[in-house]
Amino acid sequence: MYTRHTRNAPGDFYVEDGCCTSCEIPFAEAPGHFEYAADGHCFVCKQPSTPEEADLMVSAAWASEVSCIRYAGNDPEILKKFIAVKEQGLCDVLQQKTEPEAPQDMPERKAGPRKVWWAVWRR
Ligand code: SF4
Repeated sequence: MYTRHTRNAPGDFYVEDGCCTSCEIPFAEAPGHFEYAADGHCFVCKQPSTPEEADLMVSAAWASEVSCIRYAGNDPEILKKFIAVKEQGLCDVLQQKTEPEAPQDMPERKAGPRKVWWAVWRR
C-alpha cells in the first residue's frame, strides 16, 4: 500500500518513500530517531523502544508537513495516540478499515414471470 524508504530501520514506524520536502520537523519532535539519507530524504533510523519514545514518534508524525511518517503496527496504545490527535489516517491498519469496500457483484436476477402486487391476493 505504502512504499517505505529503503533506509528505514525495521519496525512499525516508517517514512514513506518519495514524499520528502526536508521539513526538518521530525528532528525536533523525535531527536535521534530520524536521519537524512544521501538523497536528502529523511528516514526512521531508530524505532521507539519505550512508550515515551513512541509518544515522540507520534508527535513527529502529527507535525510532519506532508504526512509521510506512518505507523504500520497494531499496538492499541499507539493507535489510541494517533486517534487522540485525529491522525488515524497515518496508521495503516486504521486506514484500511476506513477505505470504502470494493463493490460486490450483484447476484443475477432469475429470469421468469414477475409477480404483480395484486397477484398476492388472488390465490
Ligand atoms: S517528515 Fe517527511 S517531509 Fe519532513 S523531513 Fe521527514 S520525510 Fe521529509
